[in-house]
Amino acid sequence: MCDLNVKIEQLRDLLNGGVKRAVIIPHISPDGDAMGSCGALSLLLDKLGIQNQILICDSVPEYLQFLPKARTVVSNRVDPELCESYMMAADVLFMMDHNNPDREGELQLLNEAFMGKKVMIDHHLEPSSVDITISEPGSPATCMLLYKVIKAIWGKEIISADMANALYAGINTDTGNFNHAASDPELYRTVADLLEQGLDRDYVYANIYQVSSLDKLRLTGNVILNDLQIHPDYPIAVIPVSLNELEHFHYKDGDLEGVVNIPLSIAAVKVSVLITERKDKVKISMRSKGDIPVNVWCEKYFNGGGHKNASGGKLEVSFAEAIELVNGTVREFFEELNN
Ligand code: 5GP
Ligand code: MN
Repeated sequence: MCDLNVKIEQLRDLLNGGVKRAVIIPHISPDGDAMGSCGALSLLLDKLGIQNQILICDSVPEYLQFLPKARTVVSNRVDPELCESYMMAADVLFMMDHNNPDREGELQLLNEAFMGKKVMIDHHLEPSSVDITISEPGSPATCMLLYKVIKAIWGKEIISADMANALYAGINTDTGNFNHAASDPELYRTVADLLEQGLDRDYVYANIYQVSSLDKLRLTGNVILNDLQIHPDYPIAVIPVSLNELEHFHYKDGDLEGVVNIPLSIAAVKVSVLITERKDKVKISMRSKGDIPVNVWCEKYFNGGGHKNASGGKLEVSFAEAIELVNGTVREFFEELNN
């Protein structure tokens, strides 16, 4: 039996073995795949009669608030005591769409102190080892992997329309609306199954792609017009966005979502880097075309990692130093690639 099937059986045995309470944690700055997988799992646990709560270190961006359970998430930033009490009472902790507790912000400490069983469901490379590590780095989205797990244990009939919407939201966003990591036929079979289970594709699309604010659109326009720079020697676009600029456009979590992809529409650009100044750190976000592994660059210099074509990291240096570090390592990154 393959490793994944063994893990799936272990999860089935765990959940059938008298589990009463679970906590579910997405990664910091959650995206559609993180919140979609948490929401779908939470609805599933409800059906199984297992009390559960999604905990988050920061907040759910407004554009994902339509997802099931998103409005009942408890944030460690808002109520750390409540987070801790949920953790203390739980017998299972689910880590969704991330491969390491260090992707959980301040919840990392509670995760590391957790005494119950830990289950990871994720599609990032190099997963850390927990009690049940369900990891498939080849999968386009954690939501697709979760679908596979649910189908294998309970059959797809257990999937409600709300669960289907949540799973589809993750699949849709992690593939950039089926534009990357989207050549696996299984992806479309999964979507077909979700449609049969009541997925409302138009509803999910409208809620993700047609709910922007004027501030978000103007911020996007401004960074493309005024911040975007194309490197003179290498096929790379860099967009540094300062805290001042974010404040000017009344920035809310999620308002820069998707911006890093825009420069890839230029034929000559193969890598796009968004450098965002935050109050306590500088966030790096990278996207690439084809065979360029930006995760390697993020791991080496930016305390991060991710997927070959979509990675990120963070720096605890000034905004100017972060820009300098990106520009100062471009040459080395491309030259190592060519060797
Ligand atoms: P984004 O650019 O959307 O913030 O992140 C893209 C991908 O990069 C994420 O799905 C995640 O896999 C990875 N990533 C982003 N930030 C970090 C980080 O700080 N550390 C690690 N290990 N991966 C990150
Ligand atoms: Mn994901």
